[in-house]
Amino acid sequence: MTRVRAAVLEAFNEPLAIRSYPHPDDPAAGEALIHVDIAGSAEPMCTCGWASLLSLCEHHGARIAGRIEKLGAGLDRDWLGEPLREGDRVTWASSISCGECFYCRVKGQPTRCLTRKAYGISYRASDAPHLRGGYAEKILLRAGTAIFRIPDAVPSEALSEPAAR
Ligand SMILES: [Zn+2]
Repeated sequence: MTRVRAAVLEAFNEPLAIRSYPHPDDPAAGEALIHVDIAGSAEPMCTCGWASLLSLCEHHGARIAGRIEKLGAGLDRDWLGEPLREGDRVTWASSISCGECFYCRVKGQPTRCLTRKAYGISYRASDAPHLRGGYAEKILLRAGTAIFRIPDAVPSEALSEPAAR
């Protein structure tokens, strides 16, 4: 696969557009390239600010699951310390919070972290490496993402059920 397709929100109130992007290079240290099996909720990759606000409102957390295609150097355990291997099914936290700001430390509300970056919301699909949202064939997870290996007994579909609204 030399190009990777993604469904991208390019304009407010418009349908998602299918775009393709260059296949990413091998993941850098700590990163993971994931083959997306399933993605629910409003986590397309945004290319406009209004859409970001919209999907932020509809956002209820990580509901994406996939299989590890490639692991970057040094990434061999999930967030709970379980071994990670290529081919494993995983899910992950939808954002990376700093852990140090007022909201992270004092308020205990990491979703309001001042420097939080959420997949599908805080990144523009037009900016390299492009694949930072769930509505794509692949997603490239940043170093520091809380990745969780999915036990074999749990079907991926179970993770994509809409959360309580
Ligand atoms: Zn923070």
